[in-house]
Amino acid sequence: MLVPEARTWGPRHLPVPYAAYWSGEGSYGRRVMMRPDGAGIWYPDETRADRDAFGVLWARVADEPGQGRPEFSALHPARQRRAQAERLCQVCGKVASHTRDGWLFLMTGDGEGDADAWEGSLSTKPPICLPCAALAARFCPHLSHPLGVRARRPKIWGAFGTLFVPTPDARIRAHPDDQYLPYGHRASRWFLASQLVVELKRCTVVDLDAELAVLDG
Ligand SMILES: [Zn+2]
Repeated sequence: MLVPEARTWGPRHLPVPYAAYWSGEGSYGRRVMMRPDGAGIWYPDETRADRDAFGVLWARVADEPGQGRPEFSALHPARQRRAQAERLCQVCGKVASHTRDGWLFLMTGDGEGDADAWEGSLSTKPPICLPCAALAARFCPHLSHPLGVRARRPKIWGAFGTLFVPTPDARIRAHPDDQYLPYGHRASRWFLASQLVVELKRCTVVDLDAELAVLDG
């Protein structure tokens, strides 16, 4: 089998996804605050790199993979966003698998073998390449029923993150639950993004085992 080049961790050399967050990756710069004009949130030391093309503010997390321990269930904002936007494999960071059926996304599907069930679904998980799909199916305990879904048109939909509300004393308060927010929403000015969300369009459920067998052969 083709072994992808993923970063590994610990005595068992567990492969660590490119997009995974490491516990030693701290925040940097000033913290998010209400803008002086009260029209949303900002960083007082904000630069152009802090916002995306839609003007949405992004969480500041140092890009230092390998620092501390990998948190397999958490994604690093900048690496997740890059993988999602550039269709890079979430595990090895190289280009994700693409066929005439589209880009490969690895989902957990308990009996959701019907492409219609995935049409229009939102994903914070970036696509994946075939060798890494095989690796993930072996190593990821939460992927008990890995399902390959190909999307011909994964469309940038919006962001996942924290919505803030202003308080009467001119401070801000974070909504307790993280939210999905479509780009262009009027609450965008109060939103701190941590993951880029794509909408899966023109989906096909693929036979991962068959695709992987071709790869092995
Ligand atoms: Zn890969």
